Amino acid sequence: MAKNFDVAVIGAGPGGYIAAIRAAQLGLNTVCIDEFESVDGRPSLGGTCLNVGCIPSKALLESSENYERALHKFGEHGINIKDVSLDVATMLARKDKIVQQFTSGIGLLFKKNKVSSMHGHGRLTGGGEAFQIEVKGKDGSETINAKNVVIATGSVPRQIPGVKVDNVSVCDNTGALSLKEVPGRLGVIGAGVIGLEMGSVWKRLGSEVTILEALPTFLGAADEGIAKEAWRIFTKSVGLDIKLGSKIDAVKVGKKAISVQFEHEGASQKLDFDRLVIAVGRVPNTQDLGLESVGVKVDARGFVEVDERNRTAVANVYAIGDVVRGPMLAHKSSEEGVAVAETIAGQHGHVNLEHIPWVIYTSPEIAWVGRTEQQLKSDAVEYRSGQFPFIVSGRARALGETAGFVKMLADAQTDRILGVHILGPFASELISEAVVAMEFGATAEDIARIVHAHPSLSEAMHEAALGVDKRFLSL
Ligand code: FAD
Ligand code: NAD
Repeated sequence: MAKNFDVAVIGAGPGGYIAAIRAAQLGLNTVCIDEFESVDGRPSLGGTCLNVGCIPSKALLESSENYERALHKFGEHGINIKDVSLDVATMLARKDKIVQQFTSGIGLLFKKNKVSSMHGHGRLTGGGEAFQIEVKGKDGSETINAKNVVIATGSVPRQIPGVKVDNVSVCDNTGALSLKEVPGRLGVIGAGVIGLEMGSVWKRLGSEVTILEALPTFLGAADEGIAKEAWRIFTKSVGLDIKLGSKIDAVKVGKKAISVQFEHEGASQKLDFDRLVIAVGRVPNTQDLGLESVGVKVDARGFVEVDERNRTAVANVYAIGDVVRGPMLAHKSSEEGVAVAETIAGQHGHVNLEHIPWVIYTSPEIAWVGRTEQQLKSDAVEYRSGQFPFIVSGRARALGETAGFVKMLADAQTDRILGVHILGPFASELISEAVVAMEFGATAEDIARIVHAHPSLSEAMHEAALGVDKRFLSL
């Protein structure tokens, strides 16, 4: 007889596994279905984020930054190391161990919270009083019934037509995180978040990195001031060769090199690489999900259509995370997971998409929340701005990380904070203060009146807030 559940979550990424845990905590009989397998064919919970996304990329970013520090930065501290060498296999093994610890940890969290876990491909096959979901695994298939369904199937890398990803020569994020040796010449297509993070990793480890970006502007989603300064640092100090406005014509994989033919600055050009990474965005994953069997619709770009509370037009079917509108970020997926679990349990789950923080883990890091200066201008919002450079921060000087600044934008009439943009050390951590402030409807003056520890990087946030009222104390 088919098993019956209150909630079936399809997908165990940061959206799905969090939704399942929260639903079970609220007393709902919950199953989470996931098909992801590690390279050795073992079921591995955690989705893109834990297996081939956030966690492994941050592990490699940290390792590569340490290598670069040992090579180029320890000397100024009077620490002299001779014969610094790189062992890529150990670096990758460390990354894999971190991934394994986290992915297996989700299985333990499921047990602790009494979430049933099924491995296999989930597909809706029909509705009625309950929904039927067929779960197809290696050893056959089983159909279960669920009163509520949460679609959390995430996203997959966007492909470039005619370019075959083999994850050896031509890689997407999965291959880019597992290159067995440092390529002499690394080509990256797409100067977005993955292109910059992965480009930074392999550049620090010794590759010559060229990034080919279709758009004529750099980091269009970021505040223009931040993007301009980041461009200067990434191209001049970091040494990434970023070619904006590049149109890819052909990619040919040869025995000795991967040749990329592209148009740039009005001329046809060709570059040869040892490895190529394709990072041109991600697309929602609704493949073979049986949405049509219950009447759930996708929009023109393939995202499952949901309202502001992640409800599809079909009662009791919800969708969260990368497979729906909004930024493709792990924390956004997780918060939507909590919200739908609470909605299913009769509570009022809600996520404010206006205040989702963004972080790009380059060096220096980039982080922001809220609106950019260019958005405020185009919306004709009157604002005031305070900008404080890290070069004046004592803590940043001690760290030896003085590039970048904090910029705060506040409404000219009400002083309410509308956006905060950071380029600098630990921007990923600093941005949280801005998110909290904005969620509580704070003004720049509120931040200016709060005591910030000295010496700390957070003083730059304090000074940026003072700067909104043109009363810097340290500038
Ligand atoms: P996913 O994590 O994609 O999980 C979906 C799961 O569902 C997968 O396990 C998939 O196999 C499974 N699935 C799909 N269809 C079915 C089916 N029919 N049946 C069963 N299972 C199915 N975000 C950040 O916030 N911070 C970062 O630092 C960051 N770094 C990233 C680095 C890289 C290289 C990449 C690629 C992404 C990164 N992201 C980061 C984005 C982040 O990984 C995603 O936003 C997040 O994983 C989305 O979560 P999700 O639960 O919606 O989907
Ligand atoms: P992205 O959208 O950040 O960047 C893709 C880039 O590729 C864009 O600049 C786009 O203009 C360019 N592009 C598209 N088609 C192209 C083509 N044919 N030729 C050349 N350039 C082309 O996407 P991504 O870097 O692939 O990352 C996917 C998503 O994963 C991100 O949007 C983000 O949501 C998530 N992610 C987040 C983090 C983080 O939070 N730190 C890290 C990695 C990935």
